Parts: sequence; C-alpha cells; structure tokens
Amino acid sequence: MFSNIGEWRRSVYCGEVSTDHIGREVTLMGWIQRRRDHGGLIFIDLRDREGIVQLVFNPERSKDVHERAHCLRNEYVIAVKGTVAKRPEGTENPSIRTGDVEVIVKEFRILNDSLQTPFVIEDRVEVTENLRLKYRYLDLRRTALQKNLILRHRVSMAVREFLSREGFIEIETPFLTKSTPEGARDFLVPSRLNPGTFYALPQSPQIFKQILMIAGFDRYFQIVKCFRDEDLRADRQPEFTQIDLEMSFVERDDVMGIVEGLLYHIFRTAVGIDLTLPFPRLTHSEAMERYGLDAPDTRFGLELRDVTGIVRGSAFKVFSDTIAKGGIVKAINAKGCGGFSRKDLDELTEYAKTFGAKGLAWIRILPEEWQSPIAKFLSDEEKRGLTEVLKPEPGDLILFSADDAKTANTVLGRIRLKIAERLDLIPKGGFEFVWVTDFPLLEYDEGEGRFKSVHHPFTSPMDEDVEKLATSPLEVRSKAYDIVLNGEEIGGGSIRIHRSDIQEDIFRRLGISDEEASRRFGFLLEALRYGTPPHGGIALGLDRLVAIIAGAESIRDVIAFPKTQKAVCLMSDAPSAVDTKQLDELSIKVIKRT
Ligand code: ASP
Repeated sequence: MFSNIGEWRRSVYCGEVSTDHIGREVTLMGWIQRRRDHGGLIFIDLRDREGIVQLVFNPERSKDVHERAHCLRNEYVIAVKGTVAKRPEGTENPSIRTGDVEVIVKEFRILNDSLQTPFVIEDRVEVTENLRLKYRYLDLRRTALQKNLILRHRVSMAVREFLSREGFIEIETPFLTKSTPEGARDFLVPSRLNPGTFYALPQSPQIFKQILMIAGFDRYFQIVKCFRDEDLRADRQPEFTQIDLEMSFVERDDVMGIVEGLLYHIFRTAVGIDLTLPFPRLTHSEAMERYGLDAPDTRFGLELRDVTGIVRGSAFKVFSDTIAKGGIVKAINAKGCGGFSRKDLDELTEYAKTFGAKGLAWIRILPEEWQSPIAKFLSDEEKRGLTEVLKPEPGDLILFSADDAKTANTVLGRIRLKIAERLDLIPKGGFEFVWVTDFPLLEYDEGEGRFKSVHHPFTSPMDEDVEKLATSPLEVRSKAYDIVLNGEEIGGGSIRIHRSDIQEDIFRRLGISDEEASRRFGFLLEALRYGTPPHGGIALGLDRLVAIIAGAESIRDVIAFPKTQKAVCLMSDAPSAVDTKQLDELSIKVIKRT
C-alpha cells in the first residue's frame, strides 16, 4: 500500500498552486487535512507548510485512482500528480489562497499513514495547551504556528542582514560558562572532568561581549539563547532568545540609532511596514509620573495625575497620613466608567491589591454629586483642585492610589491598563515604540538590606551624577535605556563602565566584597585594565518581538518547542531522572527532600 517518493519530485507547494498553473500538471506532497465524498467525487484538502489545495478524485477519469482514494484518512502523507483546473463557477473558496483552483488527480502515492490525531489540525483548535504541547509536532502543523515560525525566520534574517551591513560581526560565546550577572538564578551543569564544580548556562553573554570589545572587535552581535531559572510567572521561558549586540567608541545615541535602524529594517523586510523614526523618548521619571510603569503603553492617554499637593491636608486620613509619611497620591479619571457596579469596583480593588495596594479610593461623578465613601471628607477646595486637574464630567469615575511613590505609581499604572482594556482604548494592530532612558542606577533592596543595580552592575552612571554615588546613591541616574513596544519591554541595554577603578567602586557599593568580585568577575576586572575602549550595547528579546509582530497571545506561540509554566517540555518529558551511573560519573548524589 505504501510507496516511497521514488522518482517523483514536488513541482510546487500545495499553498502556492494558483490560476497561473491552470492546465498544467503538478506534483504535490503533503498531509491530508480532510476528505469529503460528494456525489461520486472525492475531495481532499492537501496541506503543506505553504497552505492547502483542493484535490478532486473523479471516477470518470480513473476508476482505479478513485477507488484507492477511499482508504485515505486525515494526516496520511501522500504524493499526487494531477492537472490544475479552475474551480466550477460558484464553488470557489475565497478564504484560502488557492480557492480559485483545484487539482484533478491522475495518480497518487501513499507515502505514509497516520494514527488518528488527538486533535484536529485546524487553526481554531478547542484543546488544552498541554495536549498541544505534548503533541507539538501536530500542533506545529497548524497554519498559524507555521506562519509564526516562518515570520521568526524572516526576522532573524533581517537582523543578520542589517547588522552585517552595518559592520557587526556575529561571534558565538560559550554556553558552558560562569555565573553571569543578570540577577536571576543560574541553571547549573556539573563538570565530570572537574568533580564538584559546575558551569552556569549564560543568563546573557554580557561579560563575553564586553570582553570582545576589549579584544578589539568593535561591533559584535549574536542571536543567542539565554537561560534564567526563574519562577515562570507571566509569559516567560527558562530558555529564550536575544538579539545581543555591543559596540565600541559609542555613546547612548549611537546604540539607540542602530537599534532604530535595525527595527526599521525588520519591520520593512519581514512585515512590510515602514516605522516612523526616531522613536519618541521618555525619561524613567516621566514614564513613572505619567504612566506609572517603566514600560509604558503610550498608544492611549488616560494619564496619571499627581494630586499630592491638593490632598496633603485632607480630612481623609488615608491621603494625608500617606503624604505625611513621604508617600504620594495619584489619580486617574476613568472617562465614562461612572456606571461601574460595586462588584466591578471590588474587583478592581482586588486587582490593585495584587500590586501591593492597601485599597483603591474611588469617586463616581454623578450630575448632582460626587458619590463615594470618601466624598464627605473632601473639602470644597480639594474638590476644586481635583476638578481642575482631572476635569471630571458626569458619568466619569476617579480612581486614587495613595502609597509610597513606587507602589502608588505601579498600582495606578496597572489600573490604567485594565481600564483601557475595558474601555477598548487600545488600538489593535499598531506598533508604538518608545525609548525609556535615564533609569536610576541603583535601587534599595529592603529584604537584603543593600543596593542593587537596576540594570546590571556593568552599567555606567551618568557622568554628571557620579559624585552623588557617595552622598545620595538613589539619585544617581544611569546610561541605561529600554526599548518598549506597545507597553512591553522588548529590550534594554546601557553604556558600560570601561574603567576598572569605577567598576570596582560600583561592586563595593553593591555590597559585593573585593574577594567576591574577584572570584565572580575577576577575569573581567583584569581585562578592563588592558586598554578597554568606551563601549555599550543592548539586547532585544526575539521571542517577545516576534510574538508582538505576529499578534500571538504568548511567546510560546512563536517558539517551536516551548516549556510549560513549570519549565517542563511535555513532548520530550524533560527534565527527567537520569541513571545512577551518569550521576556517579558526575560525583553527584540526589537527596530526596521529604
Ligand atoms: N545583558 C543585558 C540583558 O540581557 C543586555 C545588555 O545590557 O546589553 O538584559
């Protein structure tokens, strides 16, 4: 029953058969999407990576071929020879690219059969993602995923093309390496040849790319896997891909200019869209002030307002006490949300609490009054002040967050997004980029009782802020920049510290002892002493970028073999136990925790 392809060769992809082929003989190879028996004729949709074409088996043409076609089932792999014909008037299918034509089959070979698949290979599959991930090879047959991976390939090609043209050299850096400094947990790999020691898989090629600058390569890039052992909340993967680059003899604007050119080229060649350059820029403090988040979605307004000055002396103690303790009060006017029910408001409050809010004050603006549990505490002057800033009209809803600046901003920033979703304010299909610059260099980690780098410890402080390192470290701004697309951070980088004395000083300020710095980063500190050029770079998240371009819901939809939230590959069943022999060779013993 089965054949090999023998001397048959495909002449065209199924999805590419067109009216140009009418009257010609074609040879197709693909998978059976569906078989329909219709008034003596058998119709089969044949699928390959480019799409679907309709095959017709007509008993009047060949009784034998028609007879054999009865045994064909979904997902069988067949090769077909036939003639392309225009579909009879009225039977065209405008929803597929090949919908004006069909292939009248002369001969076919069954190359392989298939078990009945656990789900139908169609774009709108109604199955759990876990089942799709277990049978990923079937899931990947779906047009949407095929398109996503082909898009991903086109983006990678555009990256290589543009950066090579700009004089960047692609250089691979090691996967078996030492712990790197991006601040997440490392994946460790035991060394058999050096028992008791471990490599770390790179969280990024950060140190190596800086060393490549010291080595004189001037412009480096790599499309590279990075590994971070984080709890996979949100849409993250333990291994993900970065477009990583580094340049010598540059300042911020040079790196940002290259990235703008790169994104322009990607969008033009891979998606056919001309972006408008340069991208707008916001400083970190502006972003926080206006949008509450450091990756602001600037596609719609609904900006946050600081009303601290207005309610400083308020009889509403939550406001005045918070301000007295150094906090702030921010508000937004959710236009037209005055009709939110008590249940809606309770849900919003619960949502706010997940970002650290203690509560969420609100005022419904009615034609005659401000309706709210806090209204009675507000003086006329406060109401006047709020009216001036928030311009409320009947039917609006004002929402407040009162907390330390970071929490107040984050909470209301998140609420802003929620409201925008609800009001359908977020335009679909557009791509809005914004740079966020002037990040603080350091933040204070209450839990650990020490300063931490906001970006990473190799990021340079702003020249004019260096002196403040000793006196007011939290006010020191860095030469770091993030690129944000539609409210998602898709990349970040910085100008680096290229002087070993400043680098050592920063390590000390981060509470990293000289001994620890030399143990972890000694090779970099040493290298920095041998003529290091000023340099800087950036890394863009390829998975996220492609996901946004593809309009995919999750980065899992643009990764061929992604892992679950629990970092498991459901198809291969990794991670899994290994033989004791393998463990013995690695001098490793597994201790079961009870
Ligand atoms: N190594 C940084 C990161 O992975 C990017 C950079 O600073 O170039 O986020």
